[in-house]
Amino acid sequence: MITIQGLYFKYKGEKKYALEDINFKIKDGEFVSIMGANGSGKSTLALCISGIYRTTSGIINVDGEDINNSRSAIRRKFGIVFQNPDNQIITNSVERELAFPLENAGVPLEQMKLIVSKQLKLFNIDKYRTAIPGELSGGEKQKIALASAMISSPDYLILDEPTTFLDPFEKREIFNLIKNKFLIKNKFTVILITQYIREALDSDRILVLSDGKLAFD
Ligand code: ADP
Ligand code: MG
Repeated sequence: MITIQGLYFKYKGEKKYALEDINFKIKDGEFVSIMGANGSGKSTLALCISGIYRTTSGIINVDGEDINNSRSAIRRKFGIVFQNPDNQIITNSVERELAFPLENAGVPLEQMKLIVSKQLKLFNIDKYRTAIPGELSGGEKQKIALASAMISSPDYLILDEPTTFLDPFEKREIFNLIKNKFLIKNKFTVILITQYIREALDSDRILVLSDGKLAFD
């Protein structure tokens, strides 16, 4: 469970708060969509919740732990997919990209190979196993980013406008993958940031940010 109380966030050197007095809870297994105009604070909120940014003030508690006391442990609970896969993909082979989070988690080599093979099949990217991610299409890259974010079985999955740069076919493919394989079968807690009401319709709940404030829950 994620509890956010009186959260404020201001970027260094800025006068205005990017997030102001945000309060809400997310229950385990919930699928929450966050909507709002460009610049309303959606990405900033995602970066605060996952422990990447330090809040200016206020409390973020994940599974009973204050984020300021156990930042690195909490960060490991989150898988994140950003809007632009080019900012996310860091290795030069699809296989290695998927193995990377497992390596960080200290998974033994033989086990790692099995998990990577299974994930490649699950995401239907087996044929790109040895491909260079940078040479694939936007949709393929985003599938790899999603497969990699999910591979170490995080408790929380944050998707920050993951279909922005995709064509309509790829958008649908990514979204079906998120919906069918994970949400329904595995019951991850998912936070989906999206501009598309169609994508948000499947969620349990929709939060709307407006100018750094929570305008609707
Ligand atoms: P959204 O994801 O909803 O488009 P953001 O969280 O990216 O919104 O941005 C919220 C506000 O914070 C905007 O006013 C934006 O200009 C500002 N902002 C975002 N990133 C930075 C940054 N690195 N430095 C200063 N201001 C930023
Ligand atoms: Mg954003």
